[in-house]
Amino acid sequence: ISSLILMSDYSKYIWYNSNIMPWEEANTHVMSHVLHYGSGVFEGIKCYDTEQGPSIFRLDDHINRLFQSATLYRMKINTSKEEIINGCKEIVKINDLSSCYIRPIIFYGYDTLGVNPKGCPLNIAIASFYWGAYLGDEGVEKGVNTTISPYQKISHKSMPTIAKASGQYMNSLLSVTEAKSRGYDEAILLNVEGNIAEGSGQNLFYVKDGVVHTNDKDSSILLGITRDSILTICKDFDIKTKVHSYSLDNLLTADEVFFTGTASEVTPIRSIDDNLISGGNPGPITLQLKNYYMDIVMGKNQNYNDWLSMLNYDISLKNS
Ligand code: PMP
Repeated sequence: ISSLILMSDYSKYIWYNSNIMPWEEANTHVMSHVLHYGSGVFEGIKCYDTEQGPSIFRLDDHINRLFQSATLYRMKINTSKEEIINGCKEIVKINDLSSCYIRPIIFYGYDTLGVNPKGCPLNIAIASFYWGAYLGDEGVEKGVNTTISPYQKISHKSMPTIAKASGQYMNSLLSVTEAKSRGYDEAILLNVEGNIAEGSGQNLFYVKDGVVHTNDKDSSILLGITRDSILTICKDFDIKTKVHSYSLDNLLTADEVFFTGTASEVTPIRSIDDNLISGGNPGPITLQLKNYYMDIVMGKNQNYNDWLSMLNYDISLKNS
């Protein structure tokens, strides 16, 4: 239940095409292009309640990826990155939130219903709202039970998997609903080559003999910002990493396996199709990386202050 957006979690306002408006009024017509073809690109960003006040984690990187996703889908955006970055900050402040999720989305609205979105307006909305642990409090703590999805991950040759695009998530939806229907917490998708791609909404890492492994965009994954954070943290803390394509066998024989994602943070994987990983308990390197990551997002490691956008009014004035 903690991973659902409950009615009580809804916020008061939404940023919609450069205006702040009541949550209930930020609507679009049922004949909007996005509703029929999934023609939107979006981001998932987190704001943490740090000792220095609310802090949005890697905001600029998320907005850069949003624009990259838009470029890959040939969307022409007339709004600047700065305006969207400021919109994200504004919508957190105006909703009076400290710990929350931020969801910017750029989508084709209502005009033509041809697949070619010619003439359809590009709308931009930014929502902020409270969201509990994506994989549940217990999952984050003790690890999640996963299954290999019977649905293949869409190939980066069919769709740009490095883009975070609405329609691409039907692939994720199929795999996660199927996994849940068999009692698992989350799905792991194989790519067209039969190697590991990623989770339905997470990147995947494994640890073997003290080395941290993950794959790259050639494996048809989204290049997660948390993935990048973990690779950077490993480098800074002298933990060896190897980025390469890998197979299910690598995972099943790994010492530790974990998911990364903005919403999932660092979540240990307890089992894959009932095969226990590291005896069913989170492994030491997973826990170490999780602690480093949580300290950083919570503003407890000064070396990573560049990754934080502080919303404290005085601090943001000083920084601007
Ligand atoms: N892969 C997919 C398919 C995702 O939806 C996400 C979540 N955005 C990730 C990976 C992790 O990306 P990030 O760390 O940027 O949240």
